[in-house]
Amino acid sequence: MNINKATVIGSGTMGNGIAHVFAQAGLEVSLVDVSRPALDKAMKTIGANLDRQVKKGMLQEQDKQPILDRITCHEKISDGATGCDIAVEAATENAGLKMKIFGELDAVVPENGILATNTSSISITQIASATKRGQQVIGMHFMNPVPVMKLVEVIRGYETSDKVTQAVVALSGKLGKVPVEVNDYPGFVANRILMPMINEAVWTLHEGVAGVTEIDTVMKLGMAHPMGPLLLADFIGLDVCLSIMRVLHDGFGNPKYAPCPLLVNMVASGNLGRKSGCGFYDYSGGGKEIVVAPHFR
Ligand code: NAD
Repeated sequence: MNINKATVIGSGTMGNGIAHVFAQAGLEVSLVDVSRPALDKAMKTIGANLDRQVKKGMLQEQDKQPILDRITCHEKISDGATGCDIAVEAATENAGLKMKIFGELDAVVPENGILATNTSSISITQIASATKRGQQVIGMHFMNPVPVMKLVEVIRGYETSDKVTQAVVALSGKLGKVPVEVNDYPGFVANRILMPMINEAVWTLHEGVAGVTEIDTVMKLGMAHPMGPLLLADFIGLDVCLSIMRVLHDGFGNPKYAPCPLLVNMVASGNLGRKSGCGFYDYSGGGKEIVVAPHFR
């Protein structure tokens, strides 16, 4: 299965990284987002991340512009997805939205095209049910930041074919990633394990056991994690964390997955982490200062 042309739906935290690694691997990429400012920001971010790779000696300066030239931006799926070999959806973590997008993709992507989703937790089988090509729908779960992180969780839905799974495994290798195949259960492997740990860190803060710095320092120095769970939550996006906890809670029906009310409140107040400028930390000054409401510090 030749994959030369990719469409990426959603140009936020993950979508810009996915477009970046596809273009760097030589694919033609259409990046689609309903928000023009999000597309503009994504192209700026990709440019800045390529500059960082040049500075670190990982990329030749003369290779940067051709990578950017391989990416075109569109505001409509019907403009961006026609003629692609694979579409990777990285829009907001919401089942209804993803099903709507997959219905649209099914109508415009060529018959033998693969429809992949970067969802963190939503059932691949449920998303596939919005299409007439369940055998060609698959999870391709990249990690954040995409250009840096090696893992791709490859998730087979109930109907996903061997041929499509092998093609996505091969494509992941071409991108310089390490694919790991898993089955379709809430949160798959990565977020079934990671997200309850983050949620527990928020409960620990909420119950006043310790402050933001203390919790993150314990997990960094005590468990040799590269960053603490609250900083990681900010990096992922608190709205994304909350959506994943809700999928785990609904999917398993077990109260141990109930999202912490502090996480719910922070999302309701628009404090979503790095992408909104503040979450557990404040990023507006270029650094990171603790910003969570004073009685939770
Ligand atoms: P984000 O909020 O940064 O970006 C989502 C983008 O989707 C926005 O730019 C929004 O305008 C766009 N969008 C919304 N509706 C759309 C539509 N109908 N068509 C096209 N674009 C649309 O979110 P994100 O963090 O990049 O997450 C995207 C997906 O990746 C989610 O499913 C999330 O669970 C998953 N994911 C996130 C992370 C992470 O660390 N943030 C890691 C792995 C997977």
